[in-house]
Amino acid sequence: MEKGLKYVFGPVPSRRLGRSLGVNPIPFKTCNYSCVYCQLGKAINFTNTRREFFPPGEIAEEIIAICRRKEKKIDYVTFVGEGEPTLYSSLAKILDTVRKECKLPFALITNGALFYYKEVREDVLLFDVILSKIDAPSERVFKRINRPHRGIVFDRVIEGLLLLRKEFSGQLWIETMLVKGLNDDEVSLKGIKKILDRINPDRRFVSIPTRPPAENWVKIPEPDVLFSAFKMLNAEPIYTVEYGEFDIEGFDSVEDAILSIIRRHPIRMDEIKDILGKSGVSMDAREFLKRLVDSKKVKLREFMGNTYILPYSARI
Ligand code: SF4
Repeated sequence: MEKGLKYVFGPVPSRRLGRSLGVNPIPFKTCNYSCVYCQLGKAINFTNTRREFFPPGEIAEEIIAICRRKEKKIDYVTFVGEGEPTLYSSLAKILDTVRKECKLPFALITNGALFYYKEVREDVLLFDVILSKIDAPSERVFKRINRPHRGIVFDRVIEGLLLLRKEFSGQLWIETMLVKGLNDDEVSLKGIKKILDRINPDRRFVSIPTRPPAENWVKIPEPDVLFSAFKMLNAEPIYTVEYGEFDIEGFDSVEDAILSIIRRHPIRMDEIKDILGKSGVSMDAREFLKRLVDSKKVKLREFMGNTYILPYSARI
């Protein structure tokens, strides 16, 4: 196998984007929010300062190489990050280079906190799809669920999304993550609906935490609450865990591939079995994981009836 990949992973199955080739332009768990439900665990680098964390040319080169080789296996190239990708200050430079070589659609998954700033909106104009989020109807709920960096003001986040809607010609999708007791009451849902109606995104999604959250006390709403939320918000439900194949080609070993994927995307026990089977490693999945757990490379966590494999360093 060839040298390991630094910025690109997958394709991995995504519930909204099909087979998604992930691109991570920022260091692990670098974010300006610290959402209670974050699957990456508690913030490690809690910052609101944009930087060119890695050379844009290096990132672009890796994307182009993988796109050429795996084009037919990919539905979207998705900038998703081990945190908030718009904290990378040169997204447009990367997109400008890769779009000339790679004809696949490009998506950005973002918390949307920085669209208030013109330079951030300009930086994302070359994407085909931007999937942002609104989990709160007010500053008070925003601070409880998303726990933003000081200086990020709820009204400005909404203002930024309204401006993006006007200036961005691609698809704008907005997702709302519901957490029991935080934003699933009728008043919160009505408030979120009002905001969504103003922004008028092309697609709306309602989701629930399906992977282990940063805070142990996070619970999913009751089924009847979810049902009325999805009707009230006129949104597509994303309630189930995703299934599909992980592509591990391009790593030095199956262990490297798994350690790389779980930094952005916790994997379930059943998925480890599939990956081992596909890569021809004739080792029992439990034995394989025990070795990784004993050497403090991963840890296991139960959530909603599934066992998930997380990086040992994740603060979950
Ligand atoms: S869920 Fe996204 S926005 Fe929230 S803390 Fe995690 S990476 Fe940041």
